[in-house]
Amino acid sequence: MCGIFGVSHHPEAARLTYLGLYALQHRGQESAGIVAVDDAGIARTHRGMGLVSDTFTEDILRSLEGTTAIGHTRYSTAGSSVLVNSQPMLVRYRNGTLALGHNGNLTNAAELRRQLVEAGSLFQSTMDSEAIVHMIARSEQDAPEDQIRQALLRCEGAYSLLITVGHVMFAIVDARGFRPLMLGKVGDATVVASESCALDIVGARIVCELEPGSFVRIENGKVDYLEPLPAKPLTRCVFELVYFSRPDSFVFGESVDLYRRKLGHVLARERPAPGADCVFSVPDSSNAAALGFSEESGIRLEHALIRNHYVGRTFIHPVPAGRDAKVRIKYNAVRDIIAGKSVVIVDDSIVRGTTSRGLVAMVRQAGAREVHFRVASPPTIGPCYYGIDTPTREELIAANHPIEEIRRYLGVDSLGYLSREGMLTASAGDSTRFCDACFSDHYPTALPSDAAKLRFEAEPARAR
Ligand code: 5GP
Ligand code: SF4
Ligand code: MG
Repeated sequence: MCGIFGVSHHPEAARLTYLGLYALQHRGQESAGIVAVDDAGIARTHRGMGLVSDTFTEDILRSLEGTTAIGHTRYSTAGSSVLVNSQPMLVRYRNGTLALGHNGNLTNAAELRRQLVEAGSLFQSTMDSEAIVHMIARSEQDAPEDQIRQALLRCEGAYSLLITVGHVMFAIVDARGFRPLMLGKVGDATVVASESCALDIVGARIVCELEPGSFVRIENGKVDYLEPLPAKPLTRCVFELVYFSRPDSFVFGESVDLYRRKLGHVLARERPAPGADCVFSVPDSSNAAALGFSEESGIRLEHALIRNHYVGRTFIHPVPAGRDAKVRIKYNAVRDIIAGKSVVIVDDSIVRGTTSRGLVAMVRQAGAREVHFRVASPPTIGPCYYGIDTPTREELIAANHPIEEIRRYLGVDSLGYLSREGMLTASAGDSTRFCDACFSDHYPTALPSDAAKLRFEAEPARAR
């Protein structure tokens, strides 16, 4: 998954983008990058591995001149975590400089790449997104918007895109609308972001959420809505609302926080825990769902698990501290709340089950008398091919074990998942517009012929 942010017509475009990326850090922590373009069409870029705050300095931001900029935070779903795979990509082609930032995952990337390589394209990265750049550059059309459209008509899968050609910016959402993209204004400048929390941080007001299939051209802050991409059935990613997006964002026309509370309400009705003394979340991802569970059930909400916010991805585990060390480094239980009590833990999802099992052990050690686990989404039974980095089916606990076995593995007195219908109808909008394939196994597109994340890493040279 990734976060994208773009600015048109602002004297401090790179600085705004830096701020926007900061608010989108949760969407990708592997690398961060900005491309800024000045009015002469000259593009400058800086990209680095790690967090936004580690990647940019005052000097770097000052060097990124121009009134147009796009930025990207990356969390890899296709291609490994190395600098050459960071975005935005920046190339020079016959229409000038071209930069691209992609959120999503193409499902036909392997076929596109094979065709392009056979036609002579030289790939620099192992990302699916690079195929789009090659197709734009190879298009026989003259106008950038026609080149981009022609390229995208060959793409299948999920893409919310920001592209600059010279200082003109394009914002595009695939016709199924898997990933969100918001448009806002700050003064005369136009701002585009994966989530509205990134518009808030730069003081922009929301103009609209870009509809699925949107194809927008932005020059000097002026927005032109071009002909949309050919319509397809809507499959907005329900997991954006369940887990991925920030609760202070509006995504797919609704408040993420209110949606998650509603999940908690429905969960409390579908899978009650009568007689429990308290309910708590696994912070931060299930805070709103736990609050909703408490509101609906009348069971008191507590903050019984405390999260250490300073555990980064590069944390070094200094001693072999046992099986649950990772969980204990990130969370700790508040004993006085838990000891002797019957407790309800609400989490947003169970993926592999390893974190949840460690948490349950911790809560038991803190003296819980009974532990009831409630999950604010249905069992995760399939991987995502549209840009969320879920593990393979073999690693998904619910794809391989019935609920009673998962209950025993976690070591809880009861385990209850939300129903699929409960998840979909908690939406304030039309409940049929979602992709829920990782919960239902009903994939809305043809599946990739090779879904391995590192599928392009070890391409053998073709012997002659
Ligand atoms: P598990 O018990 O499966 O090891 O971990 C469950 C936790 O993982 C939940 O708290 C949930 O918030 C979190 N989670 C769910 N999906 C993802 C994901 O795609 N990436 C990461 N890093 N965490 C996830
Ligand atoms: Fe979202 Fe799951 Fe569909 Fe992927 S498979 S797009 S995570 S709902
Ligand atoms: Mg979590």
